[in-house]
Amino acid sequence: MSDLIYSIAPLEIKVENISQFKSKIEDLLLNRGVISKEARPTKEALSIVKNQDKLFLSINPNYVEFVTSRQILYDGNDLEAIYCPSCGFNVIEDNYWDDAINNWFTYSESYNLECSNCKVKNSITKYNFLDKWFFSECSVSFWNWPDLKDSFIHEIEVLTETKIKALRNKL
Ligand SMILES: [Zn+2]
Repeated sequence: MSDLIYSIAPLEIKVENISQFKSKIEDLLLNRGVISKEARPTKEALSIVKNQDKLFLSINPNYVEFVTSRQILYDGNDLEAIYCPSCGFNVIEDNYWDDAINNWFTYSESYNLECSNCKVKNSITKYNFLDKWFFSECSVSFWNWPDLKDSFIHEIEVLTETKIKALRNKL
C-alpha cells in the first residue's frame, strides 16, 4: 500500500514568515493535544479530521511533517498540460519549463519561462497546472491522515493570517 499524504500550505507567504508559520501550527496541534511530542496523532486527532475511521491512529507512518523549504505538492497523477497565463497555450512540449522549475527550487532570482507561442515571460509559478501541481514555500504534511475538517483549516487560516491550500497527494 502506498502512502497517502495530506498537505496544507500557505497560498502566499514571505520567506521570513515561514518559521513563524511552522511554530504556530505546531503549537496549535500540541496544545490541542491532537499530536504527541513525536508528532504522531493521539486519539484527540479524531476531533480535527473529517473521516472518523480510527485506522490512521495505528498506521505506520502517521506522523506530521513540517517542511520549511520549497517543494511542489502534486496529486500523483500525470501532468498533461501546463498553460501559459498570458495566452493559454499548452507549453508542456517545450523543453525549458523544467529549467524554470529547477531555478525556482534553487531559489534563483529568475524562474521565468518564455511562452513559445506568445513569447511573454511569466514566473513558472504563474502557469496553470490545472490544480495538479502546487508550488509551496513551506508545508505541513500529514502522513496517511484523513482530510482535516474545514473548520480546523479555517482556524489555521485565522491563526496564521494566510489563506491555506489543502492538497492530497500520493507517493
Ligand atoms: Zn503564451
